[in-house]
Amino acid sequence: MTEYDRIRVEAPAPGVTRVVLARPEAANAQDRRMLYELNDALDTASRDAATKVIVIAADGVHFSSGHDLRDRAKLDEFDTVLQFGEFELPGQEGYMAQEQEIYLGFCWRWRNIPKPTIASVQGKVIAGGLMLVWPFDIVIASEDARFSDPVVAFGANGVEYFAHPYEVGARKAKQMLFTGEAITAEEAYRLGMVNEVVPREQLEEATLAMATKIAAQPSMGLKLAKASVNQAMDNMGMYSTLQAAFGLHHLSHSHNGQRFGMLVDPEGADRIKSQARAQK
Ligand code: ZN
Repeated sequence: MTEYDRIRVEAPAPGVTRVVLARPEAANAQDRRMLYELNDALDTASRDAATKVIVIAADGVHFSSGHDLRDRAKLDEFDTVLQFGEFELPGQEGYMAQEQEIYLGFCWRWRNIPKPTIASVQGKVIAGGLMLVWPFDIVIASEDARFSDPVVAFGANGVEYFAHPYEVGARKAKQMLFTGEAITAEEAYRLGMVNEVVPREQLEEATLAMATKIAAQPSMGLKLAKASVNQAMDNMGMYSTLQAAFGLHHLSHSHNGQRFGMLVDPEGADRIKSQARAQK
């Protein structure tokens, strides 16, 4: 895979590879094609000797509105990368394998890329949008960035990469999940979820300044520093938390399947819209 349709790969500075979500007309909603292109670009940058730092950025007003729920592409259209298969098995089995591959599986691979990664974020980051931010090492946000996970309205616990308690702390995690309301960039900064907040027009420049600073360091030191911090998170049970929450997430899909004949509570979309209106 080298021709991309949903993303763009750029080399904005020596040692820096920037992967840009390029579906602004859909607020960078993630369909399966986008996720496979992103995974491919991240793999390529990860293995590229000339790349010291990887930046993930997005075109348009909003970083990402989450998973594209209208996408009907099947995973066997893609070169799947993990060991899960039989994605069309009945019951919960097939769909669980799909989410193991493209959601939890991809996020965990990206979180463990052996090079520094920076997410450069503006506008809305909703639900699955968080899964293109949290797996990465440093987050630079513009002042207008808003982070939310409203999927409790769908009868689910939260998105498939359940890092909320690690990213914002237990109490704020509960508040953001229970209410579905967004955390502002400034609040995310205070909580330690975001490294820097800058005006929108300085987002690209501030991200590149950080990337360039990091790219000047030796790759061995960067690799070891990243692995050490990741190990600290793992020692705090992060991986077990993700696995346990993923199981409960699939309980929600299974429950919704039995009760409504679909993956999510059908009233969820209306509830999320009225939450969003109430916040304005
Ligand atoms: Zn799901």
